[in-house]
Amino acid sequence: MVNELLAAETAVREAMALCRAVQADIDTGVLEKNDRSPVTIADFGSQALVCRSLAADFPGDPVVGEEDARTLRQPDQAEFLHRITRQLTARGVDADPETICDWIDKGAADPCDRFWTLDPIDGTKGFLRGDQYAVALALVVDGQVEVAVLGCPGLGSVVDGGLVFSAIRGSGARVAPASDPADSRPVVASDCSDVTRARLCESVESAHSSHDRSKTIAQALGLEVDSLRLDSQAKYATVADSGAEIYLKLPVDADYVEKIWDHAAGSLVVSESGGTVSDTLGKPLDFSRGRTLSENTGVVVSNGLLHEQVLAAVMASEPTRDSDDGH
Ligand code: AMP
Ligand code: MG
Repeated sequence: MVNELLAAETAVREAMALCRAVQADIDTGVLEKNDRSPVTIADFGSQALVCRSLAADFPGDPVVGEEDARTLRQPDQAEFLHRITRQLTARGVDADPETICDWIDKGAADPCDRFWTLDPIDGTKGFLRGDQYAVALALVVDGQVEVAVLGCPGLGSVVDGGLVFSAIRGSGARVAPASDPADSRPVVASDCSDVTRARLCESVESAHSSHDRSKTIAQALGLEVDSLRLDSQAKYATVADSGAEIYLKLPVDADYVEKIWDHAAGSLVVSESGGTVSDTLGKPLDFSRGRTLSENTGVVVSNGLLHEQVLAAVMASEPTRDSDDGH
């Protein structure tokens, strides 16, 4: 799996560079107008770059990504597609709009025995706010995540372009600055065994994870510090790299089913760092069910040592009813 990891790292680094360039250009006026075009451009551009790169290295491997190019191919989207094309050209990728749509659509495959799953920009709200987001890529073979690369442009040093976490199942996790792949070190989860000293991270968006329920759980566990709110799979990276001991994703909307690309890369990085990942009922995440984690409910992540204690508190807490978490 070493070749797969190297290919995935190269692809994610390219996509991160494009995302950083687009994010740096966002002016706050755009945000006030509620214009989501920067995130959409970076989203499609990132998926195009990753799919192009994987197709060159592993032409037979399907990619299950979050996006497809159907709407982009509509005549009224020509100007928008042109903006994506310009971003790729600026990164030295010479391609016409049609080819770019074809790359994006390579990422619209269905899950099978061996496939890649991609979130081209995880944490779009964080991206727009100038906070955390991630480019998340994982290889799933026979329902198991075997290789993971999680690019986090907002973690570590901005000058270095952020951090790239990577893992091969059974071989541990490593992290390197985006600018210097050779400067890598092992990623090891925290050795904290006193739950009251644990740090908990969760979504910024209360629509994505119940803040009320996590507060109840934090109180039950006697946590001494306030929760750390971060967008995207940067939360998995933070637990893997000893920046926190607990990450909870607690369902708000009973009908919402988690997507595989929101968890595949992050969960392997955590488990290879010595941490533990389960759902809120203690079941392992099941990546063999297609595009969603239809057999799971929410996510509980810990440094491993605290998992049983955290899970017991999660299971003892009341699931949030839709109306509880006003947003
Ligand atoms: P976060 O960055 O933790 O806020 O999580 C972002 C992810 O939450 C996105 O990638 C979405 O796929 C996912 N998401 C979107 N809607 C919901 C929802 N209603 N409940 C839980 N997760 C959601
Ligand atoms: Mg996502």
